[in-house]
Amino acid sequence: MTDAQHYDVIVVGTGAGGGTIAHRLAPTGKRILLLERGDYLPRERDNWDSTAVFVKGKYRAPEFWFDKHGNEFPPEVNYYVGGNTKFYGAALLLGKSDSEQIHGEAPRWAGAVCPDMPFEVLAHHAVDFWLCGEDLPTPDNRVTLDRDGGIHLALDEKNDIAGLNHLRHKLQGVLGHLGMQEEHLLSRSVYLHKGMPIGATAHQAGTVRFGRDPADSALDVDCKAHDLDNLHVVDTSFFPSIGAVNPSLTAIANALRVGDRIADRLR
Ligand SMILES: Cc1cc2nc3c(=O)[nH]c(=O)nc-3n(C[C@H](O)[C@H](O)[C@H](O)COP(=O)(O)OP(=O)(O)OC[C@H]3O[C@@H](n4cnc5c(N)ncnc54)[C@H](O)[C@@H]3O)c2cc1C
Repeated sequence: MTDAQHYDVIVVGTGAGGGTIAHRLAPTGKRILLLERGDYLPRERDNWDSTAVFVKGKYRAPEFWFDKHGNEFPPEVNYYVGGNTKFYGAALLLGKSDSEQIHGEAPRWAGAVCPDMPFEVLAHHAVDFWLCGEDLPTPDNRVTLDRDGGIHLALDEKNDIAGLNHLRHKLQGVLGHLGMQEEHLLSRSVYLHKGMPIGATAHQAGTVRFGRDPADSALDVDCKAHDLDNLHVVDTSFFPSIGAVNPSLTAIANALRVGDRIADRLR
């Protein structure tokens, strides 16, 4: 390797993890190489258009992964400088139900049972909650590659139904304090509720977990590989489980923390 090719740090990927750690290490003055699979995202109106981003999947990587039954599905991934934070990672409001949605999801008998409560009134008074459970870190939930490089995602999508039920019960218990009526917490149909299919793999995590014990983790608590001295992993794959909240801020905070450790070593 010539001098011109020497780098003190090589960062693969420029998302929440990679971009942040590069930012943290830049002031060290060390030579840092960023390797990024994607191009720069063109700055254009469609960046802010949810129809272009979500419905038409304009920026989605044109690739397919496989579920545990071998069925293809398009994953929610993008390859751009800045990673998925280019589109997501911001605070998202849960859209308010409107009467058309409620009508569309309602069972046939709904209008007949309560004719004095038309869908418009229901929508006007509705408060929408999104209850989000956690994908528990079972060893069977895993990503594997086949001989052709195809990505296979094995996931038990219902592995935390008990937790979700518990959360719903808790929410129901506090509705009275919020001036709402407990018995009016409706799931499915009248209340807009949808489970997400496996293609909604927006918060991929846990493929290179950190932990204290090399028997059940690949990284130590500073996100350094147990077996290698010069390999750190700071994208969301270090998460031991996805948690039930958005991951970007945690990934960024952790990359800053690990960046400090690496900067100390580079001094
Ligand atoms: C639809 C959707 C909605 C989301 N909403 C939210 C939200 O509201 N709040 C929130 O906190 N999070 C949200 N997220 C999740 C958040 O965007 C990700 O968790 C976060 O961006 C992950 O950061 P990362 O660094 O782990 O990976 P990424 O951001 O995916 O970065 C990985 C980087 O590596 C690059 N790369 C991939 N392969 C290679 C390769 N072989 N060589 C070189 N580079 C490579 C990619 O191009 C990319 O730049 C959402 C994600 C999606 C898809």
